[in-house]
Amino acid sequence: MTDYAFPPPDQASIGIAGSRKRYPVHRIYCVGRNFAEHAREMGAEPSKGSPVFFMKPADAVIQNNAIPYPGCTQDLHHEVELVVALGSSLPEHWTAENAMQAVYGYAVGLDLTRRDLQAAAKEKRLPWDTSKGFDASAPISDLIPAAQAGIDADTVLSLHVNGSLRQKGCLGDMIFSVTDILLALSELYILQPGDLVFMGTPSGVAALQKGDHYHAVLQGVAELHGTII
Ligand code: MN
Repeated sequence: MTDYAFPPPDQASIGIAGSRKRYPVHRIYCVGRNFAEHAREMGAEPSKGSPVFFMKPADAVIQNNAIPYPGCTQDLHHEVELVVALGSSLPEHWTAENAMQAVYGYAVGLDLTRRDLQAAAKEKRLPWDTSKGFDASAPISDLIPAAQAGIDADTVLSLHVNGSLRQKGCLGDMIFSVTDILLALSELYILQPGDLVFMGTPSGVAALQKGDHYHAVLQGVAELHGTII
């Protein structure tokens, strides 16, 4: 057994619907600007060039229904997203068809963003890690195994805050499909079981305040709700 200088941190993990087992999280990849209307609302022209990627730490996942309002921001934004969870490495000779065999399941998540820090970093052309990769920045539902999830281009992703609709989009509106993203990521990184991919958000991103109640839905598949405290 490895003799560590102090006990290693707990393995980050999330629940699996219908199972007592937990899904161990290895990495969290995120896709930026994957819905044209959201790219436009962020001041960018949507493009089918190369997808924009960034990461969050694995232990940014949180399944508690009380999400702490983070420090150092006056403008915490919600981004509701489809989350893809890998259960194996990509096949050695992957194709658009067999790449999907690596998908363990799906969830709905929030890519919480300190928008003011992101805007300041963009302005100075600096990296925006502090706006995205903070503690508890990845609230996520339990995973639904892929065979049960039954998602397609018409599946609706939505977010209500305090009962009002804030964001809504169809998975078919994504500029890059799940396959496109897995193949692009696999060229940049060694994808592994335990990797989560936040697939990008539809338009309508806006601020959350303390006390706000959010309710995110991946239609017919998964739900996530909680309060900002
Ligand atoms: Mn996002």
